[in-house]
Amino acid sequence: MSDEKQCEERQTPAAAGGEVTMDKIVSLCKRRGLIFPSSEIYGGLGSTWDYGPLGVELKNNVKRAWWQSVVYERDDMEGLDAAILMHPRVWEASGHVESFTDPLVDCKECKKRFRADHLTTERCPECGGELTEARQFNLMFRTHIGPVEDSASVVYLRPETAQGIFVNFENVRESMRRKLPFGIAQIGKAFRNEITPGNFTFRTREFEQMEIEYFVKPGEDETWYDYWVQERFAWYQRYGIRAGKLRLRPHAKDELAHYARACVDIEYLFPMGWSELEGIANRTDYDLRRHSEFSGKDLTYFDETDRTRYLPYVIEPSAGADRATLAFLIDAYREDVVAGRERVYLALHPALAPIKAAVLPLLRNRPEVVEMARRLHAGLRRRWKTIYTDTAGIGRLYRRQDEVGTPFCITVDVQSLEDRQVTVRHRDTTLQDRIPLDRVEAYIEEKLESA
Ligand SMILES: [Zn+2]
Repeated sequence: MSDEKQCEERQTPAAAGGEVTMDKIVSLCKRRGLIFPSSEIYGGLGSTWDYGPLGVELKNNVKRAWWQSVVYERDDMEGLDAAILMHPRVWEASGHVESFTDPLVDCKECKKRFRADHLTTERCPECGGELTEARQFNLMFRTHIGPVEDSASVVYLRPETAQGIFVNFENVRESMRRKLPFGIAQIGKAFRNEITPGNFTFRTREFEQMEIEYFVKPGEDETWYDYWVQERFAWYQRYGIRAGKLRLRPHAKDELAHYARACVDIEYLFPMGWSELEGIANRTDYDLRRHSEFSGKDLTYFDETDRTRYLPYVIEPSAGADRATLAFLIDAYREDVVAGRERVYLALHPALAPIKAAVLPLLRNRPEVVEMARRLHAGLRRRWKTIYTDTAGIGRLYRRQDEVGTPFCITVDVQSLEDRQVTVRHRDTTLQDRIPLDRVEAYIEEKLESA
């Protein structure tokens, strides 16, 4: 490998203009095919968003990184993908039918609806009109199964993925011959009819969760709770979030759900302030106890080590895939000046980057150069999401890839035809390496793994 290194003259903007605002993120996401407003040609649907061609790659990579860490790299975890629609009794057992509610008030004048616990005035904050008494509004989306709309056919879109795990505890334990402690991990959509969604993809009515229910022997729950808090806090840093932007916020006693023994939020410093990325809770045996009662099925566990029978306790690390994706995006957003021109780039961890490498022919009117670049790309794309692009000058192509966080741009030039070497340019530093053509695949692999 040659040591030749060069880079475009690079500096951080003098004004350190790099303040990240949600407006900059929303604009970048729209412009570069990461995230679009849903149903936009019809004027959009409030607080719903569609992941575009590069957004779906980014979010899939976030989910894959989570699955990698909590399933593939562990001996004590199984995966699951439960249905969104579940037996309605599930939500009675879980407590959602009775108490998954927000207190709402309506304005008698303008008809707007508000969370009673968010109001600071006694009259409508929009028009000053008189408000109704507060009443409880269930956040679950209801629909009907089958052709008849009667109460017997009511089902809910799940408001959390966790219950799909609890009701499969016995199935998974028995089929996989598991002993405690072990966990079940699941990624999937959940739905909550939030009255005040907002902050881009941070709070939406349809969202995706990455949840673990980790089953332990009562008495060992506190140790495992502490373990999972550390484990999950470290995960965000492993994939590039800066330590100073993360913190743990333990819930006060009066914030805890009645069944939870402890709960802590992992918070990220979003542009709108510290907000929850993930919650880790010690749920005791509440869930399995309730499902035992409501289903009539014995969900106790027989512990062969001391020949006792008990209901397992549960530690629940519950993360949001959309929130994590948004946090990785915001944390990666950078502005600097390269060769006298302002640049925006995403310093994403290579494992999360939507595109791993872009292959560019320096001269697109030289058929042999194009041919070599296309052949290189054909090899790389079998392993990673890579692109071949020649639709603009090299400087502009670099900027486009910087803006979507592509870690490597590989350039084929006339000299490549003779020495069979290509130039690899690095996104963050703009430094360049000259390496043999037949080393490119191994080179990318090394960088992806070492990063
Ligand atoms: Zn009003």
